[in-house]
Amino acid sequence: MLTDPFQRHVTYLRISVTDRCDLRCVYCMSENMKFLPRASLLTLEEIVQIGRCFVELGVHKIRITGGEPLHRRDILKVFRELGELEALRDLTVTTNGTQLPRFADELRSAGVTRVNISLDTLRAERFQALTRNGRIERVLEGLDAAQRAGFDRIKLNAVILKNRNHDEVVDLVTFAIERGVDISFIEEMPLGTVGDHDRAECYYSSEQIRADLAEHYELQPTAVSSGGPSRYYRIPGVESRIGFISPHSHNFCDSCNRVRLTSEGRLLLCLGQEHSADLRHVVRANPGDDDALKQAIVAAMALKPKGHEFDLNEQPVIFRHMNHTGG
Ligand code: SAM
Ligand code: SF4
Repeated sequence: MLTDPFQRHVTYLRISVTDRCDLRCVYCMSENMKFLPRASLLTLEEIVQIGRCFVELGVHKIRITGGEPLHRRDILKVFRELGELEALRDLTVTTNGTQLPRFADELRSAGVTRVNISLDTLRAERFQALTRNGRIERVLEGLDAAQRAGFDRIKLNAVILKNRNHDEVVDLVTFAIERGVDISFIEEMPLGTVGDHDRAECYYSSEQIRADLAEHYELQPTAVSSGGPSRYYRIPGVESRIGFISPHSHNFCDSCNRVRLTSEGRLLLCLGQEHSADLRHVVRANPGDDDALKQAIVAAMALKPKGHEFDLNEQPVIFRHMNHTGG
């Protein structure tokens, strides 16, 4: 039996399949990040079981994220098995792009419809600084591979930090338009301590980005909604959509249709709060028992909050880093 909150709201599940990554973006991880012991991660089979039960309960969109999801060994198995679920309309991945030259075609044939690729700058040196030693060439090769593979849509995600990359917003939009892909700008969220920058000082609002873009492009708001925190704009005559994810300026929980599963199996009902349900415990205590799992999922929905607050002048109240949660 479905509960009302489940039917009304939650149609979208994001699954973080690992907290590990080949990059260490300054807004996401600290320099000496400690990763979870492997035994505490959900197994690939457990991930598929949980994903499948969500779909049977009414979820029709799953995004696989991380850490770097394509860094998890044998992860294609998860994509293939979830891709076979008929009721799943949309299977997507958020990736830093470095492994796409290797995996793009297989992801497409596994049924992945859309790909989000993180790209915060177009300048090689800056990329190296923002990712603590990444090579932008790999990401651009990944984008090429994704475009060749023919996904329905490709979107770039750019976290904008004042005095680090805020001066590139116009260039990033121009690049997205030239490549025929979408782009979303993301305000940095204060998740976990990251060490080397002051988050209040680096804050650059979506409103400010729109003002910068307005000097070069005519932005028209659209009614397009993904049921989440993004607001989309269009530029007349241009195919690419320009999105803004504004956790500070928009307290978006009321309209939020998504929940998140961490790599260790905690079901988070909101990015901005710590309420969670331990689904790893449920699957391990009841091996192969889908009913027990579904009951736990439905019960957890009652924890979904109506709102959250982030305060840049406070210490982070959320101790998880983004690589644990998945963006
Ligand atoms: N490694 C993949 C990637 O970078 O796309 C997937 C995981 S990453 C955690 C998912 C998204 O979260 C990325 O678009 C990343 O830029 C974003 N992100 C990471 N830390 C963030 C933070 N503190 N605030 C806002 N977005 C963040
Ligand atoms: Fe890795 Fe993605 Fe976090 Fe960057 S944002 S450190 S690529 S998980």
